[in-house]
Amino acid sequence: NRLSNDFQFLDVSREGPSKIQAEVRKREFAEIYEPFRTDDASEQAHRCLDCGNPYCSWKCPVHNHIPNWLKLVSEGNLLEAAELSHQTNSLPEVCGRVCPQDRLCEGACTLNDGFGAVTIGPVEKYISDTAFAMGWKPDMSKVVWTDKKVAVIGAGPAGLGCADILVRNGVKPVVFDRNPEIGGLLTFGIPEFKLEKDVMVKRREIFEEMGIEFRLNTEVGKDVTIEDLEKEYDAIFLGMGTYTYMKGGFPGEDLDGVYDALPFLISNVNHCRGYEQAEEFISVAGKKVVVLGGGDTAMDCNRTSIRQNAESVTCAYRRDEENMPGSKREVENAREEGVQFLFNRQPVEVVGEDGKVKGLKLVTTRMGEPDENGRRRAEVVEGSEEVIDADVVLVAFGFRPSPAPWFESLKIDLHQDGRVIASKEVAAGRFPFQTSNDKVFAGGDMVRGSDLVVTAIYEGREAAEGILDFLEV
Ligand code: FAD
Ligand code: SF4
Repeated sequence: NRLSNDFQFLDVSREGPSKIQAEVRKREFAEIYEPFRTDDASEQAHRCLDCGNPYCSWKCPVHNHIPNWLKLVSEGNLLEAAELSHQTNSLPEVCGRVCPQDRLCEGACTLNDGFGAVTIGPVEKYISDTAFAMGWKPDMSKVVWTDKKVAVIGAGPAGLGCADILVRNGVKPVVFDRNPEIGGLLTFGIPEFKLEKDVMVKRREIFEEMGIEFRLNTEVGKDVTIEDLEKEYDAIFLGMGTYTYMKGGFPGEDLDGVYDALPFLISNVNHCRGYEQAEEFISVAGKKVVVLGGGDTAMDCNRTSIRQNAESVTCAYRRDEENMPGSKREVENAREEGVQFLFNRQPVEVVGEDGKVKGLKLVTTRMGEPDENGRRRAEVVEGSEEVIDADVVLVAFGFRPSPAPWFESLKIDLHQDGRVIASKEVAAGRFPFQTSNDKVFAGGDMVRGSDLVVTAIYEGREAAEGILDFLEV
């Protein structure tokens, strides 16, 4: 029997759900992995050794009960697995799709040492997707409602994580977002080939049924004032992300044909979904595209350009492949789809003609000593300048915090770099993720700087625990 073997990992090798062929998938904005078949999911889940010291759970930022739900899946108890996986994660179906598992849970799996880690991410996705398809919903029957309500600003992973914990504890969350759909960067940033947008629509319906209210197309500071929210609500959670684009600081960045990564990606989502576009749709069809950067945003620009039918897509990154910050899985996917990588190349100028991009001047780098963050510096090689052809340059250098103008009147203290000061570790009498304004809590990218979906969820959930203590619920 396929499930009777306690040493299944010796007989069954690690196998993820099948991936659609590059030639097919690069023509569509749709997820590239097929769903796990039930037999395959339980067979793969049964590879878990139950090693007794679940490094996977420790490494997972929300500390999912991974071995426990793997066991439930291997036994066919899917609905119990869904209930359990939702105890620690507000968006398991999203994390299963977009977490860099190679650096987190799967990287820490005992079997990663030669046998191949358990396919934790795909099983997590399988559990929620299948449970939702079976009509499962989180059990809210034991919730005792209080008269408290909390304004959550931002419907990204941090805001959603916070609202999930609040509503499960009988506190009414009202979530404000300037976008027309929930998700933050999950909807308006991460492309459909990693996360189809209907996943977030389904999630909104689930959350609404649980009692979370969403006020979309509503920008705090414009459509509603923070003073009104302060008066009307018992506490406020800020989960507003980071939206100031980092510039390269080299000549030619203002030429026609140079775009910041996020407006390019958002414009594509709006175009595909038919959402209203404030700016014109940015198309790179038939263009020679150069993407600058080596993180997840750069990979998303690369693969979006391929799908838009660019003539060529080249990704230039100033360190080597080993030192890239993005997920290895996404680099591999990009390469399979036809992206050319130029490692150890640093841009020094966007070359133009008649105000338009014509090329990109690069210098070669070599890897030097580690910097203060432990990453090896890229040192320029003298006399190594070269110019490559380009019609479009997409700049994906990351994001800096974007504090709202009303933070001052709200008396929110910031770090020097603009991040909101709030943390899990707090002095006596203070609450986790409470800001300098007692009534206001914060988490996610605006507190830790651009990071990951799962860390934003974690902070939102922890901040909600802080709010519950503050409200004495
Ligand atoms: P956000 O997701 O940015 O959400 C903030 C929300 O606040 C937004 O919806 C915004 O509209 C709203 N908001 C802001 N100000 C106001 C206001 N005044 N009024 C109303 N609403 C407001 N992470 C991964 O783990 N895996 C990946 O594969 C991955 N890929 C990425 C790809 C791209 C292109 C980008 C940009 C990021 C990626 N990330 C990835 C990082 C991840 O998306 C973020 O770390 C995460 O979304 C942060 O969550 P958050 O809730 O803090 O902020
Ligand atoms: Fe792994 Fe992310 Fe799921 Fe945690 S949330 S188990 S890190 S995929």
